[in-house]
Amino acid sequence: MVNNNPWERAQKQLQKAARYIKLDPLMLAKLTNPDRVIEVSLPMKLDNGEVKLFQGYRVQHNNIRGPYKGGLRYHQDVDMDEVKALAFWMTMKNAVVDVPFGGGKGGITVDPKTLEELELEKLTRQFTGKIADIIGPQKDVPAPDVNTNPKIMAWIVDEYSKITGKKQLAVVTGKPIEKGGSEGRTEATGLGGVYTLLTAFQKLNMKPKGMTVAIQGFGNVGLYVAKFLQKTGFKVVALSDSKGGIYIPQGIESVEEVEKCKLEKGTLAGCYCIGSVCDLKNIDKLGGKNISSEEVLQLPVDIIVPAALENVITKDNAAKIKAKIVLEMANGPTTQEADEILRKKDVLMIPDILANSGGVTVSYFEWYQNLNNEHWGKEEVFKKLKVKIEKATGEVFDTSNKYGVSLREAAYIVALNRIQKGN
Ligand code: GLU
Repeated sequence: MVNNNPWERAQKQLQKAARYIKLDPLMLAKLTNPDRVIEVSLPMKLDNGEVKLFQGYRVQHNNIRGPYKGGLRYHQDVDMDEVKALAFWMTMKNAVVDVPFGGGKGGITVDPKTLEELELEKLTRQFTGKIADIIGPQKDVPAPDVNTNPKIMAWIVDEYSKITGKKQLAVVTGKPIEKGGSEGRTEATGLGGVYTLLTAFQKLNMKPKGMTVAIQGFGNVGLYVAKFLQKTGFKVVALSDSKGGIYIPQGIESVEEVEKCKLEKGTLAGCYCIGSVCDLKNIDKLGGKNISSEEVLQLPVDIIVPAALENVITKDNAAKIKAKIVLEMANGPTTQEADEILRKKDVLMIPDILANSGGVTVSYFEWYQNLNNEHWGKEEVFKKLKVKIEKATGEVFDTSNKYGVSLREAAYIVALNRIQKGN
């Protein structure tokens, strides 16, 4: 379906924002297509002797403001149009939050859960070899995204350093701390989302205390959003991962306990915790309800947080959304039709390129520390992150007021203005 193609949506978002600021036609042309797309073939023999052929991608959208920057996604649904859209959104995100990077994205069409660890390492090393010519600390700097993590980043550094004959920590970000990673990078996307929300609340004269939240996705992003929101006084009532979710209207007692339970059981469905005892048997005592990952978005709550994949809020479920605020922690969770429906319902959409920019912000800090041989403490990282996010959020709100546009349009306008000015 045309409207659910993220790349087509990205194009429309660009055209629309360009009209508001009368973007120079040459600049618009430069941003309309990626600078370069690369598709590599990754044939591999699995441990059981079977031969499989995987496809890998790297899209370098634009480097006007600095090296291409963006994550690598390992997922069975990865394809070129998705990676192109994600790369474009990185260009915009990096400009909104003002880190000196362009935008890029990559991935492999694979469900990593079907591979053994050694197979995953082999696949990652092969992929690194095939993109080694086009990545590098001053060229293109990958990072984690869906289903990739610090361990995978460490393999890339190792392989890239072997190929180039010199240790190059700054070739990727999101590394393990003991291997050149930054303090706070793991928490950064989630924490950045909470800083965005709190800044928005200040602008709108709202208070977090008691506000109810439902979160879709319990990976690195959803988990930390949930933890930090709970710490700040929000009432987290529902959590879900791809296999299902839990809903406790009176509030989930401790996100940390649910995290431990998921680690033990492999899924968070059934993680109804009283103290440290987590069991489906507690469901009635807590007045809980099992829900699917789709149902999470339709609960009667104040705020919903899509923190998994794109295209989860569509024309089919938008009218059923009861929340008044959507904090977009996933990239591209809302289709264009859904966006219009929600706007008419006066739902405040805090757009992905602002809300989830905390991750790449701390990636920038990591890259900077690597290049300057520094290691900052976690407090310092969080303080600097807060400053960046508050500034970006403030600019987006001011632009939204100035032009009378949504926060999403305003975020694009802020980004395009910055790219146009070349700073
Ligand atoms: N994958 C993350 C994102 O979508 C982080 C990218 C990065 O740190 O380069 O923003």
